[in-house]
Amino acid sequence: MSNSWSNWSGFVTAEPRLLASPADAGELGDLIRTAPGPVRVVGAGHSFTPLVKSQGTILSLEKLEGLVAHDAKKHQARVRAGTRLGPLMHMLQGIGQGLPNMGDIDRQAIGGALGTATHGSGPTLGAYHTQLETVQIVDGLGKVRDFKREGDQETIHAIGVALGAFGVLSEVTLNNIATYRLRRRKWVLPIADMLRDFETMMSEHRSAEFYYIPFSGYAQFIASDFSTEATTPRPTDDDEGSLRTLRRLRTGLAWLPSLRRRLILGAVAKVPAEDYVQDWLNVYVSDRQTRFNEMEYHLPFEEGPKALAEIIELTEKHFPEVYFPMEVRSVASDEFWLSPFHKRLTCSIAIHHDAANDPLPFMRAAEPIFRGYGGRPHWGKMHSLKAADLKKLYPRWDDAMAVRRDIDPQNRFVSPYMADLFGIEPSSFGIQP
Ligand SMILES: Cc1cc2nc3c(=O)[nH]c(=O)nc-3n(C[C@H](O)[C@H](O)[C@H](O)COP(=O)(O)OP(=O)(O)OC[C@H]3O[C@@H](n4cnc5c(N)ncnc54)[C@H](O)[C@@H]3O)c2cc1C
Repeated sequence: MSNSWSNWSGFVTAEPRLLASPADAGELGDLIRTAPGPVRVVGAGHSFTPLVKSQGTILSLEKLEGLVAHDAKKHQARVRAGTRLGPLMHMLQGIGQGLPNMGDIDRQAIGGALGTATHGSGPTLGAYHTQLETVQIVDGLGKVRDFKREGDQETIHAIGVALGAFGVLSEVTLNNIATYRLRRRKWVLPIADMLRDFETMMSEHRSAEFYYIPFSGYAQFIASDFSTEATTPRPTDDDEGSLRTLRRLRTGLAWLPSLRRRLILGAVAKVPAEDYVQDWLNVYVSDRQTRFNEMEYHLPFEEGPKALAEIIELTEKHFPEVYFPMEVRSVASDEFWLSPFHKRLTCSIAIHHDAANDPLPFMRAAEPIFRGYGGRPHWGKMHSLKAADLKKLYPRWDDAMAVRRDIDPQNRFVSPYMADLFGIEPSSFGIQP
């Protein structure tokens, strides 16, 4: 019987010998010890890179989910690592806590979101891993190991962003904040104004981000700030409707750019500005139905506008098939060794390509621009970097690799893709037993 697995976009597929869902840490440890290697763990399969791919075993932690304990005073919650962000938001709201920030969707497992440094936007807001207070892993020998910020800070910094290679996370404690409300505003402005005022506009809100609408010359800016006002209805999300319009104009008018631009502008002019107040869990995320592949690079904050201008020029000159808006966010600097935000305030730029078409020519053309500005790739999104390139971007790379060897001395979590990424000799990784 074949075990087929594929990621959300359908770009990465695998035929592992075993697909398993352990029900507790004991069963997880047994599987890590005995299942056909390499052993890779999957959250929700929303990464675009082959992090989860394995011809040995893919372990899903879907049964390891839910709240374990919480501390009302410190706003801390201990959760099982298979918990999806959607249910997690509601669990936290129920105990008076809120995630300080979120990305675009709530489908990921918390273990998966931590595994790739998943982030939202905000110059003072870190990615999910910066919330880690304690970490419990099952290591490559099947042993349960516990670490906490106080006393094990270095190890937490080493394994907080771990790509499923530093043991399997079984439980984590997150530092949250008291539940809160946000006022969210959205409006359209010329991209030239956005690029000119980038530093101020991205810095003067708790959370700010924008989307550039390709072939339009316009951006949609989104700002969120704390609010104590009464809630007002969140307008119905029409991102999918807008995408359909952009795709239709792309398909019909890809080679008539001025007409395409005029019609896009007409559509953009009809998008109403938004201004509402809602509880945190009703603000951040949207439903993403149209499948795409994505590349996102994390750049030094101040390089964002120049890099984006080059990406826009490349896209509009050479890739008329592109229609997905480009997403631009900021992320706070942190101390985690494999965090793309390690010791630098970041501007993240994401480009998307319809999953029905080959994304590689566009991604390959864009990547040198991002790299030219010192970009570090999102671990879960398309990139072509290997160990030698990555080592130059991460000052604590060698230290992180030493911790990995300690946690996984038999290379049970090392697939061919991970071996390339981490520079591990193929002869030394464990395809057996
Ligand atoms: C529609 C869409 C929207 C997205 N929006 C954002 C966004 O706003 N911001 C952003 O930064 N990214 C975003 N992403 C990327 C996504 O958040 C990351 O790729 C994330 O890692 C996916 O989570 P997952 O649970 O699907 O993990 P998977 O893709 O299944 O796994 C990711 C990594 O984590 C490891 N892993 C999973 N669980 C565990 C565990 N328990 N222990 C140890 N390792 C584990 C896996 O082995 C793998 O290496 C988006 C992706 C999609 C498809």
